[in-house]
Parts: sequence; C-alpha cells; structure tokens
Amino acid sequence: MKQTNKVGRTSGLKVAGISLMLIVLTALAGWGIYAIPAPVVDRMLESDLRHRAAQLNQQVASHLHDVEATFKRGILDEHDKEFLELLPETSDIYRFKLFDSEGRVFWSTRAADIGSLNSKPYFQEVLATGESFYKHEEKPIAEVSGLNHELMAGSGKKTCHVAEIYTPVIKNGQFLGAIEFYSDITSQRDLFITRVRWSLAVLCGVALLALTVVILVIYRTNRRQVRDLRVRAAKERELMDDQLRLAREVRLLGELNEWLQSSRSLDELFDMVSRFMTHILPEAEGSVYVYSNSRDVLDGCASWNGGSHKAHIHPEGCWGLRRGRTYEFGASEIDIVCEHAEPHDGRPYFCFPILAHGETVGLLHLRAHEGRNDAFHDSKKLAQLCAEQISMAIANVRMRDQLHDQSVRDPLTGLFNRRHMTETLRKSIGRSQQTGAPLSLIAVDVDHFKKFNDIHGHDAGDMVLRAVGSALEQGCDRDEIACRIGGEEFTLILPDNTPDEAMTRAEQLRQAVEAISVRYGEKSLPRITISVGVAHYPTHGVMPQDLMRVADDALYAAKDKGRNQVQVGKSGNAASGIVERKKAAASRTPAQVTSS
Ligand code: GH3
Ligand code: MG
Ligand code: MG
Repeated sequence: MKQTNKVGRTSGLKVAGISLMLIVLTALAGWGIYAIPAPVVDRMLESDLRHRAAQLNQQVASHLHDVEATFKRGILDEHDKEFLELLPETSDIYRFKLFDSEGRVFWSTRAADIGSLNSKPYFQEVLATGESFYKHEEKPIAEVSGLNHELMAGSGKKTCHVAEIYTPVIKNGQFLGAIEFYSDITSQRDLFITRVRWSLAVLCGVALLALTVVILVIYRTNRRQVRDLRVRAAKERELMDDQLRLAREVRLLGELNEWLQSSRSLDELFDMVSRFMTHILPEAEGSVYVYSNSRDVLDGCASWNGGSHKAHIHPEGCWGLRRGRTYEFGASEIDIVCEHAEPHDGRPYFCFPILAHGETVGLLHLRAHEGRNDAFHDSKKLAQLCAEQISMAIANVRMRDQLHDQSVRDPLTGLFNRRHMTETLRKSIGRSQQTGAPLSLIAVDVDHFKKFNDIHGHDAGDMVLRAVGSALEQGCDRDEIACRIGGEEFTLILPDNTPDEAMTRAEQLRQAVEAISVRYGEKSLPRITISVGVAHYPTHGVMPQDLMRVADDALYAAKDKGRNQVQVGKSGNAASGIVERKKAAASRTPAQVTSS
C-alpha cells in the first residue's frame, strides 16, 4: 500500500512537473515566435542585399564607358548617365550614389547630393580595403524620399526600413571609389518576418503537440502501471492474509492433533474436541455423535460454541451418514434437512461422517452462526480436516481400548483375566485400607469339569464356561468384577460387601450357575455345579495373596465337603490350609464326581 501511494504521489508530481514544463515551453515558443524572426530576417536580408549590391556594382562597372577615368575624374558621358538613370527602374534600388575615392558624390539619383562628401570613417577604413559596408535603419516615412508616401500611410505604418549598402569600386587592385545602393526593405522584411513567424509557429505547434502526445502516453502508461501495482499489492495482501490464516489453521490443527492423540478416553477426547473446535471454527456451533455398541443409533457425545446434541440419533436421519460422504446443507438449490438437524432455521450446516479404519464410527455436525454464512462456507476445507483429525483420534482411542481390553480380558468368556484380577484386588485392598470399607473375595471352581469335557467334548465345555462366566458377570454390581483366572476357575472381587452380604451373594451365584441350562446342538447339556470359597478383608488377610489363598482353601473345603456348596475361609495360618487342601485332593474319588 505504501509502495503504491508512493508511486501514485511520484506519478502525480511528474504530471504536474510536465504540465508546468509545457506551459513554460509554450510561453517560450510564443516569445521566440515574436522575437526571433526580426534579427534572423535582418541577417538574411543583409546577406542577400550585399550579394545583390555586389552584382549591381559589377553591372555599373561593366556598363560605364571608362570606369577608371569616370571615378578618378568624376565625369560621366551621356551614355553612362542614361544607363545610371535607368537602373532604379530595372531594379528595386530606388536611390544610388557614385563616390570618388575621396568620398565625394559625383553622381546620384538625387541631384542635391552631388558634390557632398562622405567623411564617415567606414569609407576609408572599410570600403578602401575592398569590403562592402551595410547599414540598416528604421526611419520615419517622411524622412525617406522616393517612397510612395500615400501608399505607405495607407498601410498604417509610420516608419520604414531602409538599407544602405556601400560597395567599393576597385580596378587592378586600386580603390577608385564606391557605389551606395539605397533600398527600401520594409515590405520585403515584413513579408519575411511574417513567413518566419508562421513557420516557427507551425514548428512549435507541431513540437508542442508531439510533446503533449508523448506526455499523455507517458501519463497513461504511468497510470496503468500504478493501477497494476495497486492490483498486485491487493493480491499480495490477500495472499499474505491467506498464508497467515493457513499458518494459524495448520498450527491449531497440529495442536488439536497432539491433544487428541494424547487423550486416554473418548470422554476426554470429546472434551478436547469441544475446546478446540470453538477456537478453530468460531463461526460454527457443533456437535459430535458416535455409534452405540449396538450400531442401531448414534449417541450424542459433545456439543460446543452454542450447539446442542440429542441423546440419540438414527443413522438414516442423516444425509451425510446415508450417503457416506460430507453433506453440505445450503450449498445447492435443493437441500433436504437432516432429521437430527431439526428444528432447523435455514442456517447452512455440514455433516461429516467420522471414519475409523474404513468404518463409519460417528458424525461431526457443524452449523453456521447467525450472519456468518460466508465465513462458514469458506471454512469447509478446514472443517473437513478437523473431522479427519477427530476420526483418527477416535480410531486411536478405540484401538487403545481394544488393546487394553485384550490385555485384561479373557477371550473365551469376556471376563477379566488373572492379571487384571490381581491388579484390581491390590487396588481394592488399598482403597479398603484407606476407607475401612469391607471387601470380599470369592473363588469359584466348576465341579468335575474334566469328566464333563470327557463326556461332552471340549466345545460343549467351552459353551458351559461361557454360560458360567455370563452368570457370574450378571451377578456383579457397581464396582464388583468377575474374572476367569484359568481353566474352569473364576474369582469375584466384591468391594463394600460385608462377610454376610458376601456369603449371600456367593450362595446366589452358586444357585444361578446351577440353574444354567445350555443347549448344544439338538440336546440340552446336563446342568453343572460350582464349589465356592469366600474370604474377607481384613479377617482373612490384608495382602492379596493371603486373601486368594484363604478363598482357595475355602473352595477346596467346599470340594471336600461334597462340592456344589459355599464355604467361608478359616482364620488362621495359610500353611494349615495347604495341608488341608492336599488332604482334600487326595480324598476326592471318582464316585463323588458321579454322585454330584
Ligand atoms: P473338581 O471337581 O475337583 O474341580 O474336578 P475337575 O475335573 O473340575 O478338576 P480338574 O482340575 O481335574 O479338571 C479341570 C478340567 O477343566 C480339565 C480341563 O479338561 C478342563 N478345562 C480347563 N480349561 C478348559 C477350557 O478352556 N475349555 C474346556 N472345555 N475345558 C477346560
Ligand atoms: Mg479346577
Ligand atoms: Mg473343577
């Protein structure tokens, strides 16, 4: 902008300067046209008259009977006089005189001059040396004899220009005298001056016209250049603004990406999405939906910048999800409002399907703020990039969740595995230690499962294990968890359960398993039972391994006592439990298996 202003100012100054120069040139030309011609014409006339005078001098000299005698003696014969009298009539000389070498007039067209003496210095100093002498004078008309005074008065002139040219008469190198020719050059001079003035005026006019054209061309070129510069500067400014905006968007997207990638859960992720989207796209309100596990609806997860989200929406109610690509309401002549966007006030909106690993996992919905439609449409590309970032982040969180699940869950039953059980037990004990809340641990073992497998096959055994796992999981409340710690052995951690409550829950679980009926192919599998051992914190120990051991001992006690029953752990040393367990194992017989 500064640059164009400067250029504009410079151009304006140039035009002003050039205009001033044109005015000065015109004034100078006017003065020149008026003043220059007269001296130039006088010089030209002088040269012309000198030349003609020299010719006339030759003519006179050649016509005189004896030049030398005539000028030395000052005597002319009749023939000479006749010739001299005729001379003014045959030329534009209207007066002339003949001088002897002393300067005495011995013949003149005006008889009164004969006998007069020219004693002017130039006679001896110039003429005697062979040079002619020229004298031009402007005289009042009345002083000039031989002119048509009436005619001259009619022209309105009061003066006339006369030229006197003295030419030397030299014979054999000897100065004999001189001839003075006296001419009226008024009209000739005026004509010449007028012609020269006209010529100069035409020349100056042409020159000024050419100069004006050149200046106009320069001015127009300058103006075009200034205009081009302004346009270029505006484009550069626009480009700069675009680059700055792009840089900001790239920076914000980078930050968004970094924050989203570091989110540990979907809740945390959506919280960050809300914060960033408000900042990145201030002209839009938004909401985000994610498919529920059943995939029949999408759950509303977050909304920001004045937007709101519904608890659930149907995928068929969104044109973006139905068509599998971005839907832009307000970009075409015919638009249909998505069901989830109702009630709708006509503001444009975007629906970006959120994809994770090629699967549609959700929806990003953005709606223009009132009066921000243009900015909103311009932000489509950026919004698309945001949707991609959010998609990637959701995919990441989901993958992390899946990996975490895989590391803590048992693939057959979906229950937590042993590792997670020991970890959770450790944390639960820590919490109980802090709060003093009760805690119980239940050990479960399917009775005679080896035999079951042998009779019905491993696949049927797996089905039963899944059914047992499901029954145990359903028996859990709040923070309680069921784990499969190996084979047909399970453990439940029941925080906040008093010993009595835990015993009741254990009995309920036993009954629940006993009630399980599993169909395998055409037939129903025989019912199975479980033996259950219960240990309480802190009664049976304050360390995870102590509680597990006591629960295990109680379990073996239940086995020992005939299976399909619940036994509580005994307070005392763990070593006695080991011994009892060994004894119980040794005492178990196939008969007992069959009877159960
Ligand atoms: P008890 O009443 O004394 O517990 O007798 P039991 O047969 O259940 O005990 P034992 O430990 O001898 O046998 C456990 C059996 O559990 C052995 C194995 O065939 C079966 N088993 C362990 N893991 C799986 C599994 O993932 N699937 C199936 N189908 N069977 C399993
Ligand atoms: Mg076992
Ligand atoms: Mg068993």
